[in-house]
Amino acid sequence: MNNGKLLILSLDGASWEGLKPFQEQGKLPIISSLVSSGMSGPLSSMLPTFTYPNWGSFWTGQNPGRHGIFAFKELRSRGRLHQLVGWNSLKLPTWPELAHSRGFKMVSVYAPLTYPPAKLNGLIVADQHMRNSRNFTHPARLAGELRSRFGRVCPPKSEQFFPPGGFRDSESMREFVQKQIQSVLQTGAIAEYLLKKPSWDICMVHFFATDPLQHALWHLMDSGHPAFSAEGHQEIAKFFEALDTAIGRLIEEVKPGMVTLFSVHGFTATRGILNLSRCLFDSLDRKPRGVFLDCKAIYVYNKIRENGAITDILIQALQSLKDPSSGSHVIRRAWLAKELYGFVSFPEWDVIVLEFNEGYTGRDGDLRAPLFKMCRPNRDYLIGTHTRKGLWLFCGKGVPARGGLQTGILDLPPTILNYLGVTVPEYMEGSPLPLFTSVMSGQKTE
Ligand SMILES: [Zn+2]
Repeated sequence: MNNGKLLILSLDGASWEGLKPFQEQGKLPIISSLVSSGMSGPLSSMLPTFTYPNWGSFWTGQNPGRHGIFAFKELRSRGRLHQLVGWNSLKLPTWPELAHSRGFKMVSVYAPLTYPPAKLNGLIVADQHMRNSRNFTHPARLAGELRSRFGRVCPPKSEQFFPPGGFRDSESMREFVQKQIQSVLQTGAIAEYLLKKPSWDICMVHFFATDPLQHALWHLMDSGHPAFSAEGHQEIAKFFEALDTAIGRLIEEVKPGMVTLFSVHGFTATRGILNLSRCLFDSLDRKPRGVFLDCKAIYVYNKIRENGAITDILIQALQSLKDPSSGSHVIRRAWLAKELYGFVSFPEWDVIVLEFNEGYTGRDGDLRAPLFKMCRPNRDYLIGTHTRKGLWLFCGKGVPARGGLQTGILDLPPTILNYLGVTVPEYMEGSPLPLFTSVMSGQKTE
């Protein structure tokens, strides 16, 4: 590889705004030095503002209408859903597969959507997401090797380590932060262990703990939050310090030609959680056949005759919903995916993509529960919720120091392929970032 190894680090849910206080306190020396010597800025995510559709776009360079992942469930033909999305849900060649076909070897730890373990040239530790498989690596024997080296291997999990009923006291909050720190340290240690093995070119590490930490403790991240406490904030600072150290160790181990940091969404304080099941039931007066909730998307199987009008009714109902406490609209827009993205891989499904106003989110809920839920710091998990603003950074030889450049998730795959010297396929929708003047001339194939 001519340009040197590529180290790609994903910090789930990190944003420059969220990191800023810790940078100012001098807790993030590694990230700060990457920022001052590389190119960076905010990264806007695709709708819905959720990990899996955006990672589908990161892997394929296509929008969710094309790659077909809108949340947790995979759409199938004849009105069926597969419950969990994964590597096999991606219908187009991913950029690692294109790199693989050119002989590049990859080490990947916990990158979203890599289960079942992507059979790439290299060493893959898959994210498990609601599965508890013992076969989470490629090659398969690597799982046993990791267990004998690290003991219990804990792949990232939704709401990980959040105690049922919330934090009893500040000690249980500290315990939660410590467990997230352990998660970061183990992720980093597994990556370091794999990187000592010979001959690889691309290393991809997903640090997941930044997501549950911010969901549960956003009130301690944001000094403007009514439940902020300086003491709690110092606990959070320890977490980000540990993350920065883990990043520094990987850079030291790899000595990469290029380091990339990115996240596909950021965080803000939750204003309210919409009970989507209740909303669906109230708008339709019944629980219709062939209509499914999936986080921030709703699927309507349009081959069932009585479903003809349902999509329009739901869009109207969702867009008119108001927060009873403030009177403000909860959903900025309920999009029909084929209008938002110009295409949906399964035309027999109407996919409604929910764009929430900042601070609002939705969940499947009990039909008897209220339509809105307010969040209580230290009791509920969703004190922070996703925003569309993640972050990106490239730092390497020849990359000029420049901050504040806005880009989107679709620009990352062509930028990575360009760095590797692999031709960017025509189906990728984004454009390479101008890291070097020489790569700006990179051409797409027909
Ligand atoms: Zn999240």
